[in-house]
Amino acid sequence: MAIPRVGMSSAAIFTHLDELKQNDVRWREGRAFTLVYFAGDDVLAVAEEAYRRYSTENALNTDAFPSLRTIQSEVVAMVGDWLNAGDEGAGFMTSGGTESILLAVKAARERGRDLGITQPNVVLPISAHAAFEKGCYYFGLESRRTAVGADWRADVAAMEAAIDANTVLLVGSSPQYPQGVIDPIAQIAELAAAHNINCHVDACMGGVVLTYLERLGESIPAWNFAVPGVTSISVDLHKYGYTAKGASVIIHRSKQLRNYQTYVTDNWLGGLYGSSGVLGTKGGGSMAAAWAVMHYLGDEGYLRVTSAARQACLQLADSIATIPSLAVRARPQATLLAFGATDATQLDVFAVAAALWRRGWYVDRQGPPPSLHCTVSNVHLGKIEEFVADLKASVDESLASAERGLEGRYGTVE
Ligand SMILES: *Cc1c(COP(=O)(O)O)cnc(C)c1O
Repeated sequence: MAIPRVGMSSAAIFTHLDELKQNDVRWREGRAFTLVYFAGDDVLAVAEEAYRRYSTENALNTDAFPSLRTIQSEVVAMVGDWLNAGDEGAGFMTSGGTESILLAVKAARERGRDLGITQPNVVLPISAHAAFEKGCYYFGLESRRTAVGADWRADVAAMEAAIDANTVLLVGSSPQYPQGVIDPIAQIAELAAAHNINCHVDACMGGVVLTYLERLGESIPAWNFAVPGVTSISVDLHKYGYTAKGASVIIHRSKQLRNYQTYVTDNWLGGLYGSSGVLGTKGGGSMAAAWAVMHYLGDEGYLRVTSAARQACLQLADSIATIPSLAVRARPQATLLAFGATDATQLDVFAVAAALWRRGWYVDRQGPPPSLHCTVSNVHLGKIEEFVADLKASVDESLASAERGLEGRYGTVE
């Protein structure tokens, strides 16, 4: 295909773009239990308008755009407040959880280099996000995956056993994605501190949710900078911050630790090039949208949407528990849950996912072990009954047909 010789009218373009979406998952109706976070038309309108006003601005150089310097520092400060980062905490906005995690891995490698480590490794539970694997691959670190316990939480003794003189980073998640449970952050961070190595807490999912669940009175084990030894934390605003895609934050415990993340060179003909993260050009749209949505929702708004998401998640967990051929992997500690077949020789949950998709519902397929995963958010409150009815029908259909489904993917390459 080649670009049209003569430009199309904007009307024709938007008609076409809307038509293209026809077979996409209907997230506005709460049919996506992954990938999309929708807090209502009003919140979306605020995000889109802020995005529109800043889509051309570029945070590559905040000398030219002091507005974006302010937006970034205020967003980072607000997230730091959520995380108990104190006055010393220092961070940046990034394009997403993956970039935040890549930077945590890169910062750990650099600090390790300062300590004379040339063959660095990262010790992390098998439940930690794939982005850490990507970071190890990109930046030349060895990934040492360790077991999780029967409760799916990191096995700290296994992590301790995997540490050696070349370990530069330990990872814990608040909560981890696959089963939605919180790792024993206090113990992991203590271990890291004892070995003088970095400890990153992946709160990409939990940064907002756990903050507001605590304020709603739920008891949450210590999961953020309140834990001594935690050196950096990632929080995705484009997930439970309910803002436009392309917004995450990484915060380090100190500016000194943050220095290992940034990059500066003058080894070319174009002058001093400094950058805070992986990107060069850094779009202002997602930054402004995050700032706008955080100000629009405020504490009250986040309490409301977090409470709705939590309620929907527990309702879903309780409903699934009543379906004999399904088992919830772990009681959700935030708003993520996974479930599998009670007897995997009888029921293929990937076939259930396919049957759900035929009914218009999109859930993540994951493993091992073969499981379905739901990221439950504000939009799902009031939809759970309908979903569970279709889930039961899909289970019955799969049991009757003995259908085998495709594994499915968390992310795709094309
Ligand atoms: C989503 C997620 C990531 C990766 O974030 P992206 O925004 O998809 O790049 C990392 N860790 C956890 C726990 C996540 O849920």
